[in-house]
Order: sequence, then structure tokens, then C-alpha cells
Amino acid sequence: MNIILLAPPAAGKGTEAQILTKEYSIPQISTGDLLRGATEKGDALSNEIKLIMEQGKLVSDEIIIELIKNRINEEDCKNGYILDGFPRTINQAEKYDEMLEEIGNKIDYVFAIDIDKSIASSRITGRRTCPNCNRIYNVNSDKLKPRNENLCDDCNIELKHRKDDNAETYEKRYNAYLEETAPLINYFEKKNILYHIDGNVDMCNTHKQIKDIID
Ligand code: AMP
Repeated sequence: MNIILLAPPAAGKGTEAQILTKEYSIPQISTGDLLRGATEKGDALSNEIKLIMEQGKLVSDEIIIELIKNRINEEDCKNGYILDGFPRTINQAEKYDEMLEEIGNKIDYVFAIDIDKSIASSRITGRRTCPNCNRIYNVNSDKLKPRNENLCDDCNIELKHRKDDNAETYEKRYNAYLEETAPLINYFEKKNILYHIDGNVDMCNTHKQIKDIID
């Protein structure tokens, strides 16, 4: 089962992907997480990627396609996966379609999480991530806050606040979404695999809408 989660930044893609991963035993592939991992190398390319991310711009399609190609060919992806943050441009979607065609695979569901910009942006101040397991928390939400202040429930290490989770960068990320990613809604609608999900509700309700469609 191959699933794509399509939504503006901070709409809850990552949180939803982490619930689906547990429920259907298929991995979450977050290009944002893969890139954040890659930026730790400290070489010229990783520093360049870091800067692009901190500016709220999109990383080049070539780099992203290479990352995805390698990741989906790993053993744990053989029964499917949940794409969180990919594709983000029409070009990425077309390249991904080609990749799947070559290996005789297909996309099963694309869930477009529709959310008001004000609701999504209000979540960024409280969002925290575990640098070890990438689990997402929100210190402003009773359902998503960690048991112990600022510590991952699973790894017991300090949670991080992403550098690009600030109001100014959010605007840029949101605009990049409108310009480059939103056209994918039409792209997948034409293929009859896109389902609209109301993301203006709490995460349990968002998840229920997705689960009802899959089941
Ligand atoms: P995310 O963790 O999905 O919010 O992504 C964080 C940042 O990583 C984005 O603002 C982009 O700079 C970069 N990024 C993640 N996924 C992609 C992608 N598919 N294409 C281009 N840039 C990406």
C-alpha cells in the first residue's frame, strides 16, 4: 500500500503518517526528515541544503528524487510506505510515476489534508521533534505533548524545535506550497486517486477520515 500525504506545512502530515505507520506496519518516508539527517554531514552540499530549508524554499528536485529512489528500494518498503512531504512539485510527481512504472508499482491513495492557514500556522510554535526517532510532539496540545517536559517519551532525550518553525519562514514555506505543491491536487485528481480530508479538526478525527477510506 503506497500512500501520499499532501498538505500545507504544519497541517499534520507527519503526525498522521506516524499513526498510519503503526496501524498498517509500513514505514513513514519523510523527505524533510531525510534531508535533516543529510544536513548533519557538515560538507558543502549539506550546508547548502540546510540553508535552503532554513529559508523555507524547496530543495532541488534532483536531490529529492535521488533520496526517494534510494529509500523506496530499501527492504522495509517492500509492502508499501507512507510518503510525507513528497512529491512537492509536478516534476517530482512525474519522476516518481516513472520510477513506479519501472518496478511495476503504483500509488494507492493520495490524501489531501485541507486546513485553514491560520490553524496550521498556530501549530508551529508548539511543535517539537525527537532528534533520534523523529516522533512529533506539540507542547500546546494535550494529546500531543510529551509525558515529561521537553523529553521524548520513547527515547528520553531532549526534543528539538525546528529552526524553520517560525512565523517568518512559515510564510515562505506556505507560499512555496501554494506555488509548487498545490497544483498536485489537480494532478492526482485526474488520476482518480485523490481524497480530500478535513484537517481543521483534531488529529483523531483527521485519522478517522483517512482510515474509513482505506478500510
Ligand atoms: P517538512 O519536514 O516536510 O516540513 O520539510 C522541511 C523542508 O525540507 C521544506 O521546507 C523543504 O525545504 C525541504 N523539503 C522536504 N521535502 C521536500 C521535497 N519533496 N522537495 C523539496 N524540498 C523538500
